[in-house]
Amino acid sequence: MNQTADVVIVGGGIVGCSIAWHLVESGCRNVLVLERESHQGKGSTGKSMGGVRAQFSTEVNIRMSLYSIPFYSRFDEVMEHPGGYRPQGYMFLATQPKHIDYLRANFERQQKLGLTTVKWIDRHDAANAVPQLYLDDVIGGTFCSTDGFVDPYSVMTGFWLSASRRGAQLWREAELTGILRDSAGIAGVQTTRGDVATRVVVNAAGPWAAQVAKLAGIDLPVEPLRRMLVPTEPFPKVSQHGPMVVDMSSGFHFRPEGLGLLLAWNDPEEKPGFKTYFEHSFIEKVLTHGARRLPCLEEAEVNPKRAWAGLYEMTPDHHPILGPAPGVSGFFLANGFSGHGVMHSPATGKILADLILKGSCDLVDTKLLNLERFAEGREIHETAVL
Ligand SMILES: Cc1cc2nc3c(=O)[nH]c(=O)nc-3n(C[C@H](O)[C@H](O)[C@H](O)COP(=O)(O)OP(=O)(O)OC[C@H]3O[C@@H](n4cnc5c(N)ncnc54)[C@H](O)[C@@H]3O)c2cc1C
Repeated sequence: MNQTADVVIVGGGIVGCSIAWHLVESGCRNVLVLERESHQGKGSTGKSMGGVRAQFSTEVNIRMSLYSIPFYSRFDEVMEHPGGYRPQGYMFLATQPKHIDYLRANFERQQKLGLTTVKWIDRHDAANAVPQLYLDDVIGGTFCSTDGFVDPYSVMTGFWLSASRRGAQLWREAELTGILRDSAGIAGVQTTRGDVATRVVVNAAGPWAAQVAKLAGIDLPVEPLRRMLVPTEPFPKVSQHGPMVVDMSSGFHFRPEGLGLLLAWNDPEEKPGFKTYFEHSFIEKVLTHGARRLPCLEEAEVNPKRAWAGLYEMTPDHHPILGPAPGVSGFFLANGFSGHGVMHSPATGKILADLILKGSCDLVDTKLLNLERFAEGREIHETAVL
């Protein structure tokens, strides 16, 4: 093998690029990213809604956001590339007492961990933020002003360009086909562009993570699940400066996108699998839920050809699986973001770089996120999944 690398990262999406950046930032320069496509972003990263929020229910997810969102606010300066962070907020609207109880428990946890920008809102505040909303059934909610959106493709590119300026390499059209092991653990990788000797491999293969893990003999509980998004045509009735609005009664959520809105809804009938085509019947479903909360949507135009589908990478407890894989020394996992891989990519990069280079990371209790938690019955369920 002529080629050697200190670390090989499998997958050139937002997560792989953040890990590469955090590694070079910590002084590890011989980093090689493998991407099987002819260009980056063709996986989940290029399909994402780009929402970033700290309004989660579990400590570990809140902590990951408390690293990632301030990181995004400095991104353009640090990377010398725009990340498109727009702190326009996330507004959760409750219609039932159980929603309020849930938001209250989350709010207290968020405040305890240092989130100072989340506050309670009433109907009046919600109407001020988005006057077109139907609010008669809303009994309260929360709003966090530092939540908002980024441009996932631009973030991925920014991470990558900055990492590559300091020596990281990217092989495009390079599919990982095998993982070589010896008595010390990982010994190298086989790819469609040749073999590489390395002692460290990071699985950042998004929805395909389980297939990559299998090459190292690891069973990874990460399943692809289709999610569909519907953009409207330009729609001046609703301000472009408004927040992501989450209707807790139906799960419908929307945010400004370009000159229109981007509409989303989690269809409970969706089954795991690698389906990435857009289903036209989804438009009626999302518009039906949407028009209940935002009646003027009935006047919005939608071009089905502009709608799209992508894959979430789901784990059984909706938390990522991060850190060393048990039993295969040198094989690291950065998988299963369950809909949060864009917002948590900065924290993931930091955690993986620290675990690889130092063996520990104090950003979160990394043991909570290891693969062993499933076998040991230590799942940590996140219910604030959109
Ligand atoms: C519709 C939709 C909306 C979303 N909205 C949000 C949101 O609002 N906020 C948020 O935070 N997250 C959101 N997500 C989730 C987010 O997009 C993902 O969690 C994130 O992009 C995962 O990034 P990744 O780099 O791990 O994976 P990917 O972007 O999928 O990258 C993995 C890469 O690995 C490559 N690869 C796979 N196998 C191999 C191999 N054998 N060899 C070489 N390369 C390989 C693939 O080609 C791919 O480029 C959304 C996802 C979807 C689909």
